[in-house]
Amino acid sequence: NVQLHIVLFSSPPPPVLAQRLLSSNAWTPWEANEFDRNVPRICGVCGDKATGFHFNAMTCEGCKGFFRRSMKRKAMFTCPFNSDCKITKDNRRHCQACRLKRCVDIGMMKEFILTDEEVQRKREMITKRKEEEALKESMKPKLSEEQQRVIDILLEAHRKTYDPTYSDFTQFRVSSSSKRITRSSSVLTHGSSSEDSSDTFNCSLECVENRMFSNMALNEDSDRSPPMDINLSHLSMLPHLADLVSYSIQKVIGFAKMIPGFRDLTAEDQIALLKSSAIEIIMLRSNESFSLEDMAWSCGGNEFKYQIDDVTQAGHNLELLEPLVKFQVSLKKLNLHVEEHVLLMGICILSPDRPGLQDTSLVESLQDRLSEVLQTYILCKHPPPGNRLLYAKMIQKLADLRSLNEEHSKQYRCLSFKPEHSMQLTPLVLEVFGNEIS
Ligand SMILES: [Zn+2]
Ligand SMILES: [Zn+2]
Repeated sequence: NVQLHIVLFSSPPPPVLAQRLLSSNAWTPWEANEFDRNVPRICGVCGDKATGFHFNAMTCEGCKGFFRRSMKRKAMFTCPFNSDCKITKDNRRHCQACRLKRCVDIGMMKEFILTDEEVQRKREMITKRKEEEALKESMKPKLSEEQQRVIDILLEAHRKTYDPTYSDFTQFRVSSSSKRITRSSSVLTHGSSSEDSSDTFNCSLECVENRMFSNMALNEDSDRSPPMDINLSHLSMLPHLADLVSYSIQKVIGFAKMIPGFRDLTAEDQIALLKSSAIEIIMLRSNESFSLEDMAWSCGGNEFKYQIDDVTQAGHNLELLEPLVKFQVSLKKLNLHVEEHVLLMGICILSPDRPGLQDTSLVESLQDRLSEVLQTYILCKHPPPGNRLLYAKMIQKLADLRSLNEEHSKQYRCLSFKPEHSMQLTPLVLEVFGNEIS
């Protein structure tokens, strides 16, 4: 090292060189870094194509080698002509004296030539840096093959059970009059004013409730309702949304059955998990169709675009719908990868604290496995800043779903208590959400 020190510092090196020798990144190929796009890539000595900065000047490989050899040999050249030869790519070998003079003129410096020791040190540092990078790479969390397999299975399960074209929606019952007619007729019926029914989402909570109640009052008191008057007390959207929910439950069941480990549970436990999580999964998966632009679930065309007032016309009120829309907005803003989305659904279904569950420890271990996959996935696949506290935020969403579930059950009980409403539901909905009549 003493020797090296003498070599390095016996004469004060130019600042760039000093910096290069002293900084820990001394041996980065700074020539390449300084390969400024604005500098023409032409050798300043001979005009040949340059490969970068060499010994402080932009040169070709030939002139770089020539300069280094000349310096190492401490060669003294003499020009056979007038010491003013013009060096070109073709004649650069003819006069070494003028070529070397040209090298010095354009700024090439012998201080930039590495000694053998420096070359050795440079090699060692490159090796060391490569080793450090390899170590860093090996320390990075990685999805195991098994974990990747779980993700692939869930993605495939989702692909098979979620149709992003929503083409089956045409098979659902429609209201006895179409949605649009229903809306305009209800506006006509309660005849109140300037309020535009298509703007319902923008009006206040009271506004929607008032409208709902005024409609109900009007029709309960009046037996001369025109035949077109499908009002809120008749829950015009109930048949359609009941079919939509029933269809979704089937898809959720299909998805659940493909979650690794789910089918190892007893039939009773599978049913217990599905009954309690179905509505939560429906809310979760519906986020795919939810759009922040129009705050509605858009399932293809205007015909299958669902706004808050559509759901109120299926018997739910804002106690559920307001937090539900908030939930959709905040979930949407997490910008989950589809991998995270399917893992979250799996984790939600495999919750060990659901009522009626027998083998809670098995469910817990299955859920733990998915949680680990999710955490590892976020660590190695979700770039910042989106990954910040993402796992915690996702788990918070599961808590939000619990209270939405509770509110839904409450409202569903009220709804299904009336035979004229429960008869609109499907057997699957009645079985999964409960049948208050029977
Ligand atoms: Zn050259
Ligand atoms: Zn010459």
